[in-house]
Amino acid sequence: MPYCSHCGRPVEETDLYCGSCGARQPVPERPAGPFASISSRNASLLCYIPLVGWIAAIVVLASQRFKTDREVRFHAFQGLYLFVVWLVVDWAVGPFFHFAGEVSQVSLAAILKLALLGTWIYMLVKTSQGVTVKLPVLGELAERSLAEQQ
Ligand SMILES: [Zn+2]
Repeated sequence: MPYCSHCGRPVEETDLYCGSCGARQPVPERPAGPFASISSRNASLLCYIPLVGWIAAIVVLASQRFKTDREVRFHAFQGLYLFVVWLVVDWAVGPFFHFAGEVSQVSLAAILKLALLGTWIYMLVKTSQGVTVKLPVLGELAERSLAEQQ
């Protein structure tokens, strides 16, 4: 049970004012920001939502709440790089294979995108189980990014 900050008599945790002397009691501080009430695992999961996870990743990386949480920041970086790969597939692979003909262009981009979608879903499942999966290349990049910020 907490005690009054003014007179030292016991007060209830929920009391805003002391019942004995009427002094206002200090309010327990809560971390502010968009992730104030979200767990580390859920924040990590958000970073792997296909196509929109990068938004969560950027918010995680910018937030005070996870500034020292290497685990979540790793997932944020990895989720971000996954989206970069998606963009590269979307923008670069198409035009590059343009000369090879319409059909192969469409199928190559489609196969790569399916693989990326599969990776996102795989990461969602693994992260929800509390398993940290380090993807080839992207995981390395994520760890390097983490180290650079320390
Ligand atoms: Zn008091």
